[in-house]
Amino acid sequence: MTVKEIRDQLAAMAAEKGLDRPARILLTASECAPLAKTGGLADVVGTLPKYLNKLGFDARVMIPYHRIIKEKYGDRVEYLFSFYVSLGWRTKFVGVNKLELDGVTIWLIENEEYFGGPIYMPDREGEQYAYFTRAVIEALFRLQFIPDIIHCNDWHVGMLPLLLKTQYVDSEMGGTRTLLTIHNIAYQGLCQFDFVQDFLSIPDGCLGLMERYGMADFLKAGCVMADRVNTVSPSYAREICTWEYGEGLDPVLSLRGDVDGIVNGIDKAVWNPGTDKRIPANYTRSKMSGKKACKLALMEETGLEVVPGRPLIGMVTRLAEQKGLELVMAAMDQILWDNDCAFILLGDGSKKYESWLRGLEERHPGRACAWIGYDDDLSHHIYAGCDFFLMPSRFEPCGISQLIAMAYGTLPIVRETGGLRDTVQPYNQYTGEGTGITFARMDGYDMADAVRRALWVYGNKEAMNGLIKNAMAVDYSCDNWAYEYGQLYLSMI
Ligand code: ADP
Repeated sequence: MTVKEIRDQLAAMAAEKGLDRPARILLTASECAPLAKTGGLADVVGTLPKYLNKLGFDARVMIPYHRIIKEKYGDRVEYLFSFYVSLGWRTKFVGVNKLELDGVTIWLIENEEYFGGPIYMPDREGEQYAYFTRAVIEALFRLQFIPDIIHCNDWHVGMLPLLLKTQYVDSEMGGTRTLLTIHNIAYQGLCQFDFVQDFLSIPDGCLGLMERYGMADFLKAGCVMADRVNTVSPSYAREICTWEYGEGLDPVLSLRGDVDGIVNGIDKAVWNPGTDKRIPANYTRSKMSGKKACKLALMEETGLEVVPGRPLIGMVTRLAEQKGLELVMAAMDQILWDNDCAFILLGDGSKKYESWLRGLEERHPGRACAWIGYDDDLSHHIYAGCDFFLMPSRFEPCGISQLIAMAYGTLPIVRETGGLRDTVQPYNQYTGEGTGITFARMDGYDMADAVRRALWVYGNKEAMNGLIKNAMAVDYSCDNWAYEYGQLYLSMI
């Protein structure tokens, strides 16, 4: 469908609901790209509203005014007003600021105590985001923006539906509906129970709605109280209703029976090898020569031996258990000993992986490179310059990296879980179909076998070029993605 057709369909749906103005959507979360980003959540919150507005919605964003945003964007931010909120016996300052980015209004909640430091305060995350949740609701009244839908993302704002339905039923926001999107069920915001009860004045009758193992569970509160709960891929939606992946919330989610999944889109304004200004040479599906230049530049930049014909496998990842780094630790040495290939990883996180990666570099000089840190530019270079992109995740709600890799003609090698299963079509050597190489078991040997198959494909020009063409033709455009969310929002009004 064209954008115009999508717009018309959504307009017809809105008219059926009796809406004679654009539906008002507020997206709220702890992070939003490009202002503050630690992972895929930020990409979603930063991109979706842009495309919703193109489709006729009035979508706005509210996030904390983190220090990192002040440092980078402070001179473009406009101060609006401030007020105080009561949190139990405490009274806390709330500054409301505004930034317009790509035509989207982003409101920034300011409080030095909570947001003057890192995006996630060690040991005080619960308090930080309980404060934020209260501030969001109170700020909306003062901004006179009464949303039709508040779209909450992840545990940080999981308490919002509970507060809205227990403390604001008789207010102007009594008719506001809530959608909770779970980007990662492994993070639930467990916090000391008595503290949360007091801090957010949760009435005694509602305590069971947020209690788990004697703690306050922010995500559980959202799962119980939101009008709709969804997640970021159909497979993950099914998985989190099971004991194996549900992290203890599977009974709640199964009981609801309405959890579904919408696969994230990627922003082609940012992730497009044909126009990307951060990569050394541009290329397209029909004119691929620039990709070779990207590979050579990447090898040079990262100190790998510059061997144009040597297959290069890349990763851009948080260094967290979720990402399957155990498998990399189990199998990567053998892969590099057995095959003439090279490996580069850009990542940030747990020190245990960092020191192992340093060792890998020493054992395979010129063929293994570990770049520790967060680096947007280098991530673009890796997506463009590698031949393969490895994602052996233990679980993966959606995964954006494999979508980006496919757009850059870098074939994903992934474990068949969650969004990876939904988005990467396994290579079929008989029909030539597929967009990547997949494996099923959480096992180093299985991963090594997938890499071996990938290297076989690399050695077979026709198969390799066919797969690259297939991968680059996959359309995870934001228009379709926003269309699906648009339909969901309107169905809730
Ligand atoms: P998750 O949200 O679980 O970390 P996703 O695949 O959904 O995983 O999204 C990860 C996003 O963060 C991608 O855009 C990826 O390029 C980016 N990213 C992850 N680690 C880094 C890093 N160290 N440097 C730059 N970008 C990174």
